[in-house]
Amino acid sequence: MSASEFEIIHDHFERHGGANRHDVILGIGDDGAIVQPPADQQLVVAIDTLVEGVHFPIQTRAEDIGWKSLAVNLSDLAAMGAEPAWFTLALTLPESSNSWLKGFSAGLFELADQYGIQLVGGDTTRGPLAISIQVAGYVPAGKALRRTGAQAGDLIGVCGNIGDAMLGLSVLMDEPPLSEISTDRLVASLNRPRPRVREGLRLRDLAHSAIDVSDGLLSDLGHLLATARLGAELDYAALPFSAAGRQLLQEVPQHLPQLLDGGDDYALCFCLPPDRLATLQARFADEPDVLGIIGRVTETPGVHCQDAQGKRWVLQASGYEHFRQEDRWAY
Ligand code: ADP
Ligand code: MG
Repeated sequence: MSASEFEIIHDHFERHGGANRHDVILGIGDDGAIVQPPADQQLVVAIDTLVEGVHFPIQTRAEDIGWKSLAVNLSDLAAMGAEPAWFTLALTLPESSNSWLKGFSAGLFELADQYGIQLVGGDTTRGPLAISIQVAGYVPAGKALRRTGAQAGDLIGVCGNIGDAMLGLSVLMDEPPLSEISTDRLVASLNRPRPRVREGLRLRDLAHSAIDVSDGLLSDLGHLLATARLGAELDYAALPFSAAGRQLLQEVPQHLPQLLDGGDDYALCFCLPPDRLATLQARFADEPDVLGIIGRVTETPGVHCQDAQGKRWVLQASGYEHFRQEDRWAY
């Protein structure tokens, strides 16, 4: 059954809307939303688009698309150390399928409710499936984390695993590099990334800089290092791979660069002065395993790592780039 634009908005988005926040003066229904940011806080605003066939495979379930569209945006707020508050949704659909919309909004609001973020407006149009979500969150004035600020001697930290989403994609593409792996968990890493919002808040006042790992660790760490022309020495034993990633490296050590370069993990990567490590660890006392220290910032440019066999790697980022010829039509 198909629905009109207004029925879609009312039935699938307006009725739920996510959290019912006191700082939303006017939500869905008017020409614009009105929100009341707390005094002395700054707003952090970010937007990300997901296009079918580019950001998720065509067979992806509507629930997972809804979840992931918001998750990738919450991950940007996390990387800024911001507390999620509101979002808007621009949805382009090839047809108005009620069952698809039901699934999409269920996945979307499942995540929205976990973070107390409210949908305050949007736009609904017809065309090839694409979802843009704009998020806004707040930080105390001057406290947002940025990509710039790394210094030689800083520790490099990561919250979350690296490489699982890439392994999940290879499972979906029917070319898993390993036979004995928990494929469901890897596919879930790809389809239902967990934004590291709480972790981002814990980095405030401590980290020199931070970024979320969306295009691959090597590429995103490269952004933290680039502005100051710094490099990194990574500690192989401390790299944040899951059991599946470790197993892959044991069998095929040459996969190290691909694992470090796979996208879609939505972990946080940050640079931390060593004398603040104890304070940060104390903030993570309830989940110490989430906090990984994977290396150090060096004055020598380039990212280096010595593996378990004693081989020294110079790691180059390739990262996904939309306008590079070989990266088109990823699925
Ligand atoms: P306008 O033509 O003035 O832009 P619309 O008819 O597009 O208004 O939208 C009507 C209301 O529904 C607006 O408040 C808009 O923010 C909201 N809206 C439209 N699409 C969505 C959506 N996909 N999710 C949430 N709110 C939406
Ligand atoms: Mg209008």
